[in-house]
This record gives sequence, structure tokens and C-alpha cells, in this order.
Amino acid sequence: MSNMEAPANTPVWVNEARCKACDKCVSVCPAGVLAMRQEVHSTLGSMIKVVHPEACIGCTDCELACPDFAIYVADKKEFKFAKLTEEAKVRKEAVIKNNYRELEA
Ligand code: SF4
Ligand code: SF4
Repeated sequence: MSNMEAPANTPVWVNEARCKACDKCVSVCPAGVLAMRQEVHSTLGSMIKVVHPEACIGCTDCELACPDFAIYVADKKEFKFAKLTEEAKVRKEAVIKNNYRELEA
């Protein structure tokens, strides 16, 4: 469910104006799709970022976990989501070890 219009061909998107950088969505995402990017002008100095949209499995855990209704997931009828891969699981662990911050390229 979203209070924003769903962008075309996008699995997961954010309303940055609502994000309080609590990290909850990053911690629940099983596929390492999300991470926090540095943003000096925002609360806590960081902001949510969809880093690997191609890996999103459409589980909606991020949307359900967000206390501020700042992140939205496409409807399964409208987007063909990825399958969970080992690479995605490893990336998730790496992001968590990196304090939820975006990994270096
Ligand atoms: S829908 Fe699931 S896989 Fe996609 S970003 Fe949200 S928590 Fe991650
Ligand atoms: S759970 Fe919501 S408020 Fe918290 S970091 Fe994610 S998008 Fe931002």
C-alpha cells in the first residue's frame, strides 16, 4: 500500500521525506536490497537507499517494518520479482556487519 504513485517497473521505492533512518527495513530485508547512504542533511546523518532493486523478492517485509510508511513495494501482479539467491543472502549479512551502511563498490 502506498500513498505515492507507484513508479513504473520498480520493485521497491521510498519517500525520503518520511524516512527517519531507523535501519529497520535494512535489518529485515532478506536479500540485501537496502542500505543506508550517507546524507548529512538528514536525521542521524543517513538516508535509506535501494541499492540492489534487481534482487528484491517482493516479500514486503521492509514495508511492514517501516514505522513511518516511507518504503513501498510493488504489487506482485504488477512486477516480476527476483528469487532469493545465495549472493543476496551473503550481501545482507555484509550490510548488517557494516552497520546497515551501503557497502563500498
Ligand atoms: S520487499 Fe523484501 S526483498 Fe524487497 S526490499 Fe523489501 S524486504 Fe527487501
Ligand atoms: S524503516 Fe522506514 S524510516 Fe526506517 S530506515 Fe527504513 S524507510 Fe527509513
